[in-house]
Amino acid sequence: MKILVIGTGAREHALVRALAADPQVTDLHAAPGNPGIGALAQLHAVDPVDGDAVAALATSLAADLVVVGPEAPLVAGVADAVRAAGIPVFGPSAAAARLEGSKAFAKEVMAAAGVPTAEPRVVTNADEAAAGLDAFGAPYVVKDDGLAAGKGVVVTSDRDEALAHALACLDKPDGRVVIEDYLDGPEVSLFVLSDGSTVVPLVPAQDFKRALDGDEGPNTGGMGAYSPLPWAPEGLVEEVVATVAQPTIDEMRRRGTPFVGVLYVGLALTSRGTRVVEFNARFGDPETQVVLARLATPLAGVLMAAATGALDTLPPLQWRDEAAVTVVVASHGYPGTVRAGDPISGVQDAEAIDGVHVLHAGTALRQAPAGDDDAALREAQLVAAGGRVLTVVGVGADLAAAREAAYAGVEQIDLPGSHHRTDIARAAAGQ
Ligand code: AMP
Repeated sequence: MKILVIGTGAREHALVRALAADPQVTDLHAAPGNPGIGALAQLHAVDPVDGDAVAALATSLAADLVVVGPEAPLVAGVADAVRAAGIPVFGPSAAAARLEGSKAFAKEVMAAAGVPTAEPRVVTNADEAAAGLDAFGAPYVVKDDGLAAGKGVVVTSDRDEALAHALACLDKPDGRVVIEDYLDGPEVSLFVLSDGSTVVPLVPAQDFKRALDGDEGPNTGGMGAYSPLPWAPEGLVEEVVATVAQPTIDEMRRRGTPFVGVLYVGLALTSRGTRVVEFNARFGDPETQVVLARLATPLAGVLMAAATGALDTLPPLQWRDEAAVTVVVASHGYPGTVRAGDPISGVQDAEAIDGVHVLHAGTALRQAPAGDDDAALREAQLVAAGGRVLTVVGVGADLAAAREAAYAGVEQIDLPGSHHRTDIARAAAGQ
């Protein structure tokens, strides 16, 4: 099988790594990829949100399957362009990706499908926003309707901060804001594969959204994750498939916009029951890094079955009886203004540790300056080129062992000014 993966992050590196380990995969390509992905796949400098360019690349490669990682290409219709070129694609159409692209749309689908979620109010001007905040009371939950790269949601007890965020979102062209009930309780991420009708759940994971230990600091794209969740109630996955995933997939099909790909169900286990916090239309980053580390079934056939309407023929997924923990190493300044260009070292030392692998996100290779003979002999230097730079994954017999491995790996990484959380999976490991 020849597979093209679209994206640049650690999530895509995790997908490529899993695909590279699948004996069915003969040829791996990525666009645009990153230096870590480049060690496993041939990279192509193609704009990932340009559907025509991605479809042309897939056609010229004679790819058997295209896997779209991030949300922006999906919302921009890249999966539609590839499908129109007659190539199977793992990733929803633009119409189905609206489950992530518009929070108001997702709420409408959830209401139609009877899916339990926080009660929303969609507002389009400042007066409605102020009235909405007062109707719900503190803590306030204010969400940008559209894609906002993980920065669209503010949860705060400070009414001024909540209103300021609402006004900033309303200020955008066609700005709309969703204000909703605050959901208490621990959060769970569950990925559910769908071919448009059949759903196949993966294993649950938990991520850590705040920048600092103890869930302090600003929200980020995610600073770490772990799986399994020893504290999760028995039957949670079955419950979520029956009450959330299958009704949502059925509703999307009924609307004529079947959802093909992975539905990321973000859940809160509240005192009043399980509620959906959010839907995403793609794998989550960093949860994918731990979920795929536990998947024993070769990945390519699974994604192909979803892309071709054949999930009902897929044998049950096999999982390793191991735990996985991932820790994100972030650039100086993340999630604010980040500093690029700092040199990274220690990746190989980290990977020399049993149970550790390192996935690249915001990295780049800086070539030695031309004309400098000494420098020309040296290898290109790996440097930071984004907010989240690396995710270090530890796998072990249990969460304590996986955690130990992941942090031993992080210890080996040297990136000036970088930061990471020290408490990923600590409580779940009983430490
Ligand atoms: P979202 O982009 O919708 O996933 O929101 C990002 C994060 O904000 C979630 O992972 C939650 O931690 C938090 N959040 C979102 N909605 C709510 C809610 N209704 N109540 C409490 N926290 C929320």
